[in-house]
Amino acid sequence: MTLHCWTSARYTIPLPAGHRFPIEKYALLRDAVVASGLVSPSTLHEPDRASVDALLLVHTPRYVDAVVGGTLSDAEQRRIGLPWSEFLVERSFRAVGGTCEAARAALDRGVTMNLAGGTHHAFPDHGEGFCVFNDVAVAIRVLQRDGHIRRAAVIDLDVHQGNGTHAIFAGDETVFTFSMHGGRNYPFHKVAGSLDVELGDGTEDDLYLEMLATHLPVVLATSAPDLVIYLAGSDPHEGDRLGRLRLTFDGLARRDAMVLDACREVGIPVAVTIAGGYGRNIDDSVQVHVNTVRVAARA
Ligand SMILES: [Zn+2]
Repeated sequence: MTLHCWTSARYTIPLPAGHRFPIEKYALLRDAVVASGLVSPSTLHEPDRASVDALLLVHTPRYVDAVVGGTLSDAEQRRIGLPWSEFLVERSFRAVGGTCEAARAALDRGVTMNLAGGTHHAFPDHGEGFCVFNDVAVAIRVLQRDGHIRRAAVIDLDVHQGNGTHAIFAGDETVFTFSMHGGRNYPFHKVAGSLDVELGDGTEDDLYLEMLATHLPVVLATSAPDLVIYLAGSDPHEGDRLGRLRLTFDGLARRDAMVLDACREVGIPVAVTIAGGYGRNIDDSVQVHVNTVRVAARA
């Protein structure tokens, strides 16, 4: 089946010169998947902005108002790590819209992908770690509200723990949150999810994939979800500036295949988001994400 992806030129925004966030990866990824022929223009969709009502299913009115109105304090902006701008607001609304639309479409198509999203450090009342809104949580809440799903599972394989997502769904038995992440990496105050697996610095392909293979069937059997949202971060890659792990391109592609195969075997639809990636060479991060698109396109 053809892979449908969501992306937008608005995902890439102007940042101050020398800013440490690799904002250009979204445009590079879009160009690379089109150039590779993995996705055709007809299956590449521009998301609408998420509605304020949708955001309010997860976020507090004060926080949403502060983002929209540009009244975030300096401290709040520093915590997010991105300076406020109209472009940031537009990007944040579109990226949530992309995950919402991809998640809805996954229910019909099996596998879909937002070429952004996975902003798992966003909490109800604040953002941090380059995350403004929690697209994954909003998408799940919208689909639950609209009666499309009852239960969901989040499979978060970004190298950083999805502390915001875990906080949002804490105590909610309808949403299972599974994370495999660097134990010594950011966030230094972890928030317990349904199942957390901590990895040591320098973890390589074999151990990582062994652990994933052990836990995935348990996650799917325990959560019995109507939908999985998968955060396919590229930051476990050995070339990542922030990741501290040593996964190879091949190991990460096998990771993606393991997740998508496990879901397909039991008939669970999956919406994929790209989450983080901070390659010393940005092209390495983009390549990991392109490989995820390739695996998803044949799923
Ligand atoms: Zn990350």
